Order: sequence, then structure tokens, then C-alpha cells
Amino acid sequence: MVDRKNPKARLDRRQFSGGLAALGLGAALPSGPARAYQGPNVIIVRFGGGVRRAETIEPQTTFAPYLLNELSARGVLIPNMTISALEGVETSHAEGTLNILTGRYLAYKKLPSPFAQQHLEPQAPTLFEYFRKAFDIPAHQALLINGEDRPQEEFFTYGVHAHYGLAFRSESLSLYRFKLYKLRRQLAANDGSDEELALAKKEFDKLMSRDYRGLGARQSPEIEAFWGRWQAHYGRSGFVNPRGDRLLTELALRALDELRPRLMMVNYQDPDYVHWGNASHYTRAIAIIDAELKRLVDHVDADPRLAGNTVFVVVPDCGRDANPMMEVPFQHHFNTKVAHQIWALLFGPGIVRGRVLDKPKDQTAIAATVGGLMGFRAGGAETGAITELFA
Ligand SMILES: [Zn+2]
Repeated sequence: MVDRKNPKARLDRRQFSGGLAALGLGAALPSGPARAYQGPNVIIVRFGGGVRRAETIEPQTTFAPYLLNELSARGVLIPNMTISALEGVETSHAEGTLNILTGRYLAYKKLPSPFAQQHLEPQAPTLFEYFRKAFDIPAHQALLINGEDRPQEEFFTYGVHAHYGLAFRSESLSLYRFKLYKLRRQLAANDGSDEELALAKKEFDKLMSRDYRGLGARQSPEIEAFWGRWQAHYGRSGFVNPRGDRLLTELALRALDELRPRLMMVNYQDPDYVHWGNASHYTRAIAIIDAELKRLVDHVDADPRLAGNTVFVVVPDCGRDANPMMEVPFQHHFNTKVAHQIWALLFGPGIVRGRVLDKPKDQTAIAATVGGLMGFRAGGAETGAITELFA
């Protein structure tokens, strides 16, 4: 449980400056106009779609051996992270993602949506906004990488907050965004027969109707250029782009090379296909994320501009149930204890290697921790940073 009134739960600058100093950043925290950013890159990997500790970090039953055996040796594993059981807190994907991005529970409003999924509108600043407000960082270097069938997550690029919001948003890479890019260009160029253009217009309107903020068709010139190269590679070459979580890695690797993001969140999601009832969809998807994580880390390790200057933060969005009596096992909508049980792994420059931090930590601690690593204050976060990463 999070004690919302506990003053110790706030970011303790003095304590955390040890971590910043270890990274060569000193203890300075932002004030005044945005400054040039000198700190490490941070890649947040949502080990998402809801995973339990049993199939990820428990040695006898894991489907993620790379995470557990190799990566955990490079950093601090926090096996006892939880999603608070506060009234109204739900253990699900969008909710968990916003807990991570805002450092708060229930920091969203449920908006009605004409689609099956409702929209959660963030009401607190996201990590992207804190970061871009504190430092002179263009939107394309604060990146959210999303799966194709979770359009509501497209709108986690900023929250509704008087002092943050649109001006400090992140950019987003996803098939949803690519399709908008492609169709808009096709329509503008009148490229196709009348029938093809009518179909393209219909699809474009359908995609745009998901964008309740009306911004979906506009991305920054750097992102438009990224999509141009993506289309040239996959469109004209005859290559077929990968799907599912492998696609997210593909977008992330290209982004690392072409956009040089300083803060990036990759929202893996495929273990959630277990909702269709087949347990092997779940365990196979975990094994795939494990392999994709290796591709990401190997890519960073092999790039001299990124190796030694990139911190990884790996954390699930939510857990899953452990009731073997369920007709469809591994659900996460029933507020069970196991669905609240997650974990985190952080590694990279300055972070202690090979440590298991066996203390209870809260999912909302990630935001202040990322702020501490990067040298900004996630002021709205309700849980303090994880200071034990450094000593
Ligand atoms: Zn789900």
C-alpha cells in the first residue's frame, strides 16, 4: 500500500543525488528554462500484456531465461514490486502503463469511446513531459513505441495538465501512425484508381476517428522522414514488416539508429493474447519478449554511442491471476493478489550489478526513479525514487 501522506514517499533529492553523482551528473535539478541534456539515455521496456512473476523471474518456471540469468546479473532486480491495492486501482495494461509514466495511481479520466476499448486520458504529466520541460529535447527524441491493436495507448504521449501537455508531448511510433502517414500521402498525391482512393479515404477516416484529440495525422518532420524510410524499406523492397511484439523491436532499433531518442518506452503486449484462452499463447509471448529484449540490449551494446550511456528499466504493466480453477486461466481483471504482483529490473551505467533488492517497492516508484536517473523531478509522482540502485 502507498501511504499518500507519508512525506518520506517523496523524492529525496539529497539521497538520490548519490545516484546522479555516480552517473557524473552532479546533484543539479532543473529550474528555469530548458537546458541541454547531458545525462544517460533511458529505455523503459514494458514487459507487458500482463505477466506473473512465476513465468518471468522465478527460476524453476521462467520462460524468460535471458532476463533472469543474464540481464539481472547486470543490474538490480526488484522481485517484490507491486501495484497498490488502493480502492479503484485496476490491474490492467493501460492503467499500469500510466502508473509507470505518471508515478501516480488513478491519474486518468475514463473517456467514452465508440470503440471496444475506452480511452484513459492522463490527467497528470507523463515522464516525457517532465523530461522535455526540463531539457531542450525535441519530441522525436522522447518516444513511445506502441502495438497496433492498442490505439488508446497512442494518446499517452501527454497528459492534460495546465503546465505541461501538448507542447512537451512525446512522439509515437506504431503501425497506427504509419498507416496514417501512408494513407495521407496517398490521398494527397491522388495515387491510385478512384476505387482505391475511396478505400484509402475510408480507412483514413476510420483511423482518424480513433484520435479523439484530432492530432493523429500530424507528426514532426523527423518522424515523417522516419516513416518515409520505413515505407521505402518495407513498401518498395517487398520485405514484409514483422508483426506483434517483434514489430515493436524493429521500430525501436530503427529509432535508436535514426532518431537517437534519449527517453524511449517500448510497450510490449503479446502475452495478453491469453485472453483468447490458450495458455501457450501467454508463455510463448513471454519467450518472444525475452528474445526481443536481447535484440534491444545487443543493439545498444554494439553501438559505441549508446553502450555505457543507456539505462534499461524493465517492468510489467500488471500481473495475472493464479487461480487454476478458472475456465480461462491467467486473467487479470478480478483484482486478485497475484495480478498486483510485478517486479522490475534496472541496469546500466551507475547502477549496482547483480543485486536482488528484496524490499517491497511500488510500481509508481518508477517515474521518480527515471527522473532521478535523468536529472529532472517528476513532481506529481506519489512515490519516491528507488535510491538503493546505487549503493
Ligand atoms: Zn489483458
